[in-house]
Amino acid sequence: MPLEVNEIFSSIFGEGLNLGLPCTFIRLQGCNCRCTWCDTVYAQTTGLGTLMDEDSIVEKVKEFGNEWVCITGGEPMMQDLHKLLVKLSSIHKKVQVETNGSLLLKDDELITRIAMSPKLPSSRMDKNMKYEQMMKLRPGDELKFVAANESDWFFVKDLLRRYKVACEVILQPEGGTDGCWLVEKLLTVGLEKVNARVLPQLHKVFGVK
Ligand code: SF4
Repeated sequence: MPLEVNEIFSSIFGEGLNLGLPCTFIRLQGCNCRCTWCDTVYAQTTGLGTLMDEDSIVEKVKEFGNEWVCITGGEPMMQDLHKLLVKLSSIHKKVQVETNGSLLLKDDELITRIAMSPKLPSSRMDKNMKYEQMMKLRPGDELKFVAANESDWFFVKDLLRRYKVACEVILQPEGGTDGCWLVEKLLTVGLEKVNARVLPQLHKVFGVK
């Protein structure tokens, strides 16, 4: 079944544990959320992308040649990724899938790393989230919170107290580059027994796509 694609491009990981590594990004079209600070508004609405079959997508991935492939959006879990994941696995790609965590996680055995980013109150999408899915994340996965203000920070602390997670936790300042306040929060208050770190959006620091 064809997938609705917004764009396929080569860059470095700008976020998360793979920060700085080369990667081929497959951005799928369509999202079930409308976050106030979304920086990929152009990928939110279904019907505006290009339908591509899995073989054509894989050919494009091969052209770029990167070891890592990141399926992002939009919200990738809105589409059926199974066939694409099988094909990417058959050519030995490492695959990260980015998700907001509000939809059921599927095909995790075919995904090298799930990068889940549940939305906080500043997004105004917190009511749509299924935060309990954070507990499905594996040790090699990542959980990323985009925090815009102190209320978000306290919300994260409460989530991590309520749900025990096995994976790495990342705090990312909304806007991507001004994380001083989050560093101060982490150092002065601390997230006891949680392996949290503060990371910027590197592609915004460097001014690349
Ligand atoms: S979940 Fe992601 S793509 Fe969807 S609206 Fe929110 S920030 Fe944008």
